[in-house]
Amino acid sequence: VKSAVAVVGAGPAGLTLANLTLQSGIPCVVLERSSRREVETRPRAGVLEHRSVELLERHGLADRLLAQADRHGTCEFRVNGQAFQVDYADLYGGRTHYVYPQQEVVTDLIAAFIEGGGDIRFSVDDVTLHDLTSESPRVAWTSADGVRDEISCDFVAGCDGFHSVSRRSIPSGYLQELVHHHGIGWLSILAEAPPSTKAIIYSLHPDGFAGHMLRSSTVSRYYLQVDPSESVDNWPDDRVWMELQKRLSLADGSWRLTTGKITEKRILDMRSHVVEPMSYGRLYLLGDAAHIITPVGAKGMNLAMNDAAVLSSALTEYYKAGDETGLKTYSDDCLRRVWRAQEFSQWMVGMIHTSLDTPFQARLAQARLEHLASSKAYAASFAENYVGP
Ligand code: FAD
Repeated sequence: VKSAVAVVGAGPAGLTLANLTLQSGIPCVVLERSSRREVETRPRAGVLEHRSVELLERHGLADRLLAQADRHGTCEFRVNGQAFQVDYADLYGGRTHYVYPQQEVVTDLIAAFIEGGGDIRFSVDDVTLHDLTSESPRVAWTSADGVRDEISCDFVAGCDGFHSVSRRSIPSGYLQELVHHHGIGWLSILAEAPPSTKAIIYSLHPDGFAGHMLRSSTVSRYYLQVDPSESVDNWPDDRVWMELQKRLSLADGSWRLTTGKITEKRILDMRSHVVEPMSYGRLYLLGDAAHIITPVGAKGMNLAMNDAAVLSSALTEYYKAGDETGLKTYSDDCLRRVWRAQEFSQWMVGMIHTSLDTPFQARLAQARLEHLASSKAYAASFAENYVGP
């Protein structure tokens, strides 16, 4: 096989890139380890920034999203049972979030790519990358029916998530890895339960943070702050619902959580991880393969799509005009946005977790929230970062 671009991984990064490059007339092959069904049913993120939606819309990839997604411009903070809301859309020119589950984004992008004549191989195994610093790198894989195959290409896009085989193909010592562990765990829960709120809730409670996120009219996601070494086995369903009700409740007792069937429960270790630069020879890293951010602020999927937009523009300039400028600045262009998101996420982690290491930090969190509740200028800055600059 010969193609211009080999894309490893069919998540939001890989599929956005594949669609954009295909639309620019640049041939690419997508190699995905999981089956089509698996990637189309894997629930993860669910919040899209307005810029991500604009990107998809510009390329005719947002029809179902725009018809079905809920737009959100308000979030709620609860502190010791008292609630206040931030109308971030009002504070930031009417820009909103779009709540649309990641697996639906992925489903739409796969359909559009195949409809446009794109070449995507599911259920491939043992992907290996070769000659990345040469003019024609190669990517090899074993197909679903056990046949070893290989593609020779101009560029490789490593979009294969945090455990990226692409990133691990770069000689050790070349990348600088910047890592931060927040020392916090989140028990992440997905349930077939209608939302008990109209706006996302971030609640500070003496026993730790609790969050109520929105996914659809029938499914909700919740988070409970736990020790990162905690085991899911210690959290039977009854305990999860009791703890959520307790940590999310209002002082006047008026708020009730609607429960449902829990379909996913796992512990997330809140950490941040960025590699620099985001490229090596003719390999470009995108999305979680290059950077992990905490779920606080809902940036991960959006950063993945932004990387895809930056790389597709650079590839288009290269193929249309022989201009390599965008490819050379790819890493710096993406990292500026990545670090801005990391800074915001870190700031927000510090604001919504009460039982951090010291009471000093708990007081800082409280001061930030009071500032957010009382200052329009502070809230406007939050709004800009939250909905996406
Ligand atoms: P991925 O989505 O991980 O896709 C990588 C793809 O590569 C996968 O399909 C994988 O099967 C494939 N792959 C892996 N290895 C190989 C290989 N060797 N060969 C071939 N294919 C391979 N982000 C937000 O913006 N908002 C949120 O609200 C949000 N909530 C989240 C909640 C949870 C519980 C989690 C876990 C994440 C959340 N995120 C959120 C983060 C978001 O899901 C990720 O940032 C996003 O999926 C990154 O997209 P990606 O394409 O880079 O990687």
